[in-house]
Amino acid sequence: MTEKRDYYEILGVDRGADAAQLKAQYRKVALKYHPDRNPGDKEAEDKFKEASEAYEVLSNPEKRQVYDQLGHRGVEGMRNGHSGGFRDFDDIFSSFGDIFEDFFGFRNSRQGGRSRARRGADLRYDMTIEFMDAAFGKETEIELEKLETCGTCKGTGAKPGTEPEICSLCNGTGQHVRTQGFFSVKSACSRCGGQGRVIKEVCPQCRGRQQVVTRKKVDIKIPAGVDNGQKLRLTGEGEPGAGGGPPGDLYVFLHVKPHDFFERRNTDVVCKIELSFIQAALGDEVTVPTLKGEETITIEPGAQPGDTVRIPDKGIVSLGNGLPGDQIVELVLKTPKHLSKRQEELLREFSQLESEKFTSKIKRIFKVGSRKAAK
Ligand SMILES: [Zn+2]
Ligand SMILES: [Zn+2]
Repeated sequence: MTEKRDYYEILGVDRGADAAQLKAQYRKVALKYHPDRNPGDKEAEDKFKEASEAYEVLSNPEKRQVYDQLGHRGVEGMRNGHSGGFRDFDDIFSSFGDIFEDFFGFRNSRQGGRSRARRGADLRYDMTIEFMDAAFGKETEIELEKLETCGTCKGTGAKPGTEPEICSLCNGTGQHVRTQGFFSVKSACSRCGGQGRVIKEVCPQCRGRQQVVTRKKVDIKIPAGVDNGQKLRLTGEGEPGAGGGPPGDLYVFLHVKPHDFFERRNTDVVCKIELSFIQAALGDEVTVPTLKGEETITIEPGAQPGDTVRIPDKGIVSLGNGLPGDQIVELVLKTPKHLSKRQEELLREFSQLESEKFTSKIKRIFKVGSRKAAK
């Protein structure tokens, strides 16, 4: 595959271009290479698709940010491994229908000619996953109820063995055509609704609706590093389009269960460990669980409550660049509740020494202060 061109370069805008500039430039490029103006020209077709893909990404602030930071690879990451770009012209027109309407001042002839061709609805599926599955990724399968093209009539809506009849009003073209300036404007036939065909005997399965509700299993690949609230887009897994329109997409919204021990902070993983004040005072070596097995960390003598120890690269991998974050261990100090006689004696002795140290420190400060005052 050839190297993908820079989206800004394709549209001929600089990197700081605002939404209005992007739209204006896309309009210019799209008009130049528009398939209605360049029938059968493969190169123009590719340029038109390329510009549409660039505009699709740059006109979406979220995608634009990812593209600015990570380039094409980042945007593909957002698409969850599904190939990017558009399948065909209908896909482009159904995504940017409003824009083309805006550009040409009337509905695009391609859309008008298939006024009944509609993109299928997008679907939402909410999925709760374990903390570890979000960290390491998981391949799973979901089952959802959705509309599918009717298998009995293969989506024609006609009873098997019968054929839809060619519409007598439009002679099967599905459209009425009139010319307006540079473009020909087509509107849908009023008898067949743009289908070009009329069903005489309806399919008993879907009763002519061409679609039926079915339960379908869909494979889901959760990439390592996903976070709570993120969504995966599965292109074409939504409901089927009508009249030859493309299917919608399936969006899987992820809800990550909290973990008992680990807490996520971006790509870092935070945990708390309890130390006795003796360990904190004298320093120690402590074993802590990480996402990838146990690690021994060193507690420096004189550690304070809330101090943190960082274990590099034991966090969660970044979806963007694949690099892992760190594990941050927060120190919590606990005070002993039940002391033996001997322990208590030692602590009282310790306390005595501490208060002597404190008194001499105060005296020293006082002495320094009074000496200064005497000057
Ligand atoms: Zn059917
Ligand atoms: Zn007709």
